[in-house]
Amino acid sequence: MPSRPIDPRLHTLSTTTREHFRRLYDEEPAFLVAAPGRVNLIGEHTDYNDGFVLPVAIDRHVVVAASPRRDRFVRLYAADFDQASTFSLDDIEHDSGTRWSNYERGVAWALQEAGYRLPGMDIVLSSDVPIGSGLSSSAAIEVATAFAFQQAGNLSLDGVQRALLCQKAENEFVGMRCGIMDQYIISLGKRDHALLIDCRSLDYQLVPIPAGCALVVCDTNKRRGLVDSEYNTRRQECEEGARLLGVPALRDISVDAFRAREAELPPTIRMHCRHVVTENQRVLDAVAALRAGELAQFGDLMNASHISLRDDYQVSCAELDAMVEVAWEQQGVLGARMTGAGFGGCTVNLVLEQAAAHFQHQVAQGYTAITDLQPEIYVCKAEEGVRLID
Ligand code: ADP
Ligand code: MG
Repeated sequence: MPSRPIDPRLHTLSTTTREHFRRLYDEEPAFLVAAPGRVNLIGEHTDYNDGFVLPVAIDRHVVVAASPRRDRFVRLYAADFDQASTFSLDDIEHDSGTRWSNYERGVAWALQEAGYRLPGMDIVLSSDVPIGSGLSSSAAIEVATAFAFQQAGNLSLDGVQRALLCQKAENEFVGMRCGIMDQYIISLGKRDHALLIDCRSLDYQLVPIPAGCALVVCDTNKRRGLVDSEYNTRRQECEEGARLLGVPALRDISVDAFRAREAELPPTIRMHCRHVVTENQRVLDAVAALRAGELAQFGDLMNASHISLRDDYQVSCAELDAMVEVAWEQQGVLGARMTGAGFGGCTVNLVLEQAAAHFQHQVAQGYTAITDLQPEIYVCKAEEGVRLID
């Protein structure tokens, strides 16, 4: 891997995390772990249809400083909240007082359930992954914590096992139903690569991202309403569509076969299924475009994804559309689309690197002029997955 100069943002974060550790525990941490946030480039609402997704890890991180302990206690400190929480590995309970600690507790629980013997630990965690913006701060905490236990306890588990156990922690301990995408990319991501994930087989492939482009994430700051109930009905409609088409999942029908038979489906189910079927194909086409270095074609597929999510799947909203439409007008933009479940949240944009700063400024201004909302805009690079740092 060509070494990139240390990211100044990560350097600052690791320095302050280390300082917190010294102040709190009166010693140097034994090691530091960084786990990135992530954004999905294309493949939206395909995961629960056994389809394909293409996330990328970004250069915003959760940093964990840690040292093993001789006893069975885990002491946690969340620097960003200035809160501490301690638990025993022999009796891992939920803590409703420090809800953030349930991610770490859940990971310890899942590792032990899988038969791993864990050491006690002293941990400080801090982060510049925005919280609750859809960049997956929660999975970054889980994967960083799992990696820290691995390091301290000398546990042999690979990136896939780590991802699966972190997902189990979020599903079963935290109580949040999520797919495998976030933990996979954060656990297995490589610098300057996206990760194609087959959500049925859980196979994955790294796909190089050509040099010279930035990933720009624009948070609409529109609070998501309705998202849970709409999400559940979409899932049911997809299942119903697959049943009517006689396939195990929408993953199993090609775009051509779907077009030939879509008239058999009731109108709403037809539209919603059309998005999923075409989106799966777009992910595969997007991977081929990246591999061929065809960034313009990749961007066109992102744009088509947005239109499909807006018109067929009907999960966009005025704010997401405004952010994307303003982006489409800018110089240097290759593609722009909503990302995440929809009805608010973020867009993801592929932008020529040298145009990114201007893009950020123009989109912020244009978006505010239309919506009266202040967006948050993050210019990112494709980053390495979880790792030890100095
Ligand atoms: P996201 O889309 O960012 O993953 P979630 O709601 O899934 O949003 O996870 C956010 C939760 O993760 C927070 O409410 C908090 O409990 C935990 N979390 C995120 N960042 C931090 C942090 N810097 N320190 C402590 N806990 C954090
Ligand atoms: Mg999350």
